[in-house]
Amino acid sequence: MNTLVTLTDEQSMIADAVADLTAEYDHDYWQTCCREGHFVDELWAELGELGFLGIAVPEKYGGEEMGIPALATLIETFAAHGVPLLAFLSTTTMAPLPIIEYGSDNLKNRFLPGIASGDLRFAFAITEPHSGTNASRIRTSATRDGDEYVVNGEKTYITDAAGADYIQLVTRTTPYEDVANENPYHGGTLLVVDTDADGIETSPLDVSIPEPSGQYTVHFDDVRVPVNNRIGREDAGFSHVFSALNPERVVTAALAVGLGRFVIEKGADYANDREIFDAPTGSYQGVQHPLAGAKVAVEQAALTLQTAAAAHEAGQRNAAAAANVAKYAASEAADKAMDAAVQALGGNAFSHDYPLAALRDWTRFLRIAPVNNEMVLNYVGENLLDLPRSY
Ligand SMILES: Cc1cc2nc3c(=O)[nH]c(=O)nc-3n(C[C@H](O)[C@H](O)[C@H](O)COP(=O)(O)OP(=O)(O)OC[C@H]3O[C@@H](n4cnc5c(N)ncnc54)[C@H](O)[C@@H]3O)c2cc1C
Repeated sequence: MNTLVTLTDEQSMIADAVADLTAEYDHDYWQTCCREGHFVDELWAELGELGFLGIAVPEKYGGEEMGIPALATLIETFAAHGVPLLAFLSTTTMAPLPIIEYGSDNLKNRFLPGIASGDLRFAFAITEPHSGTNASRIRTSATRDGDEYVVNGEKTYITDAAGADYIQLVTRTTPYEDVANENPYHGGTLLVVDTDADGIETSPLDVSIPEPSGQYTVHFDDVRVPVNNRIGREDAGFSHVFSALNPERVVTAALAVGLGRFVIEKGADYANDREIFDAPTGSYQGVQHPLAGAKVAVEQAALTLQTAAAAHEAGQRNAAAAANVAKYAASEAADKAMDAAVQALGGNAFSHDYPLAALRDWTRFLRIAPVNNEMVLNYVGENLLDLPRSY
């Protein structure tokens, strides 16, 4: 695959290893898991053995401590082979990062080695039926009762909730109404909840995005969670979660860059082979230019992604801005790439015998989640252009 980005030696090693793995765990394997509704268990076990699930985990806790640029390369390369996995966002990013930064030694010792080895999978749950973009309005409550919290509420669109061993759950220990006038993001508390606990009920959601982990609604009915499963401070949970949002945006950009590259390659391969008049359809500028334009956009986004990952790793002041710009650029580019590739494949774009149909909603979805691109533009407007807050 022709790309513009020069990877570090460490990133090249990861990209090569993933490319080798995708000889066995390829797009067809991914499709089969999605269709049959089961997780990529064999692949996950192998990734754990190779140390790839602990890329963001400190060596002290069994990880590789390679950082976000390496994690981004892992995720991007799988997606570039048609293997996009949301479990990378939950188990290898959103779950470990707040534990590493704010968790007690007890939590670190209990959970980080299992995440790194692949023995423990985590879901991350913040979205509720009435609270998506505006996370401050969540209603799931955690009420202290001695050494436990009692959790009640409902989360929705939770990836991997049925297969995960634990849910990293964003709750409220102080209701929104009590803090709205001062700081709406005060009063959140982040808990690690065992998915086998009494009072948890999980129901699958019928979404159009094929994904081996699946998405679920999760009900919590008087679920008892030990206080020592709390990550960081009571009432400060939102700020603990927000610390992981920039890396999450970087790895989402990686997912989008990978998918963009995959679908452009499929579009170009098809347009090179397909002759309906006397030449390949790829020789027509009406087919070639949209693919080439999308290639430019995806490679630009890939460069922005590397900048953002490096800025995060170096703790630069512009790291948040770079993560937002990368997420926006990559998700818009991937969707543009999908549109060009769909046009190149014509009717076959909609056949499940070809790889685009399964991924069409994926690239659209990445413009909406985990943060929608309007919120990214709000960030850019306020922080890079000094414009007033618009909402
Ligand atoms: C496949 C899938 C997997 C998911 N996995 C998880 C998961 O594991 N854990 C989890 O907690 N959640 C998960 N989600 C939920 C996802 O994070 C939310 O869908 C996303 O945050 C958007 O929230 P919403 O759908 O409630 O949209 P809403 O908040 O209702 O917003 C709808 C639209 O309004 C616009 N909008 C909203 N606010 C503004 C504003 N201030 N300015 C301008 N425009 C605005 C945006 O265009 C947005 O797309 C998943 C969703 C999907 C589809």
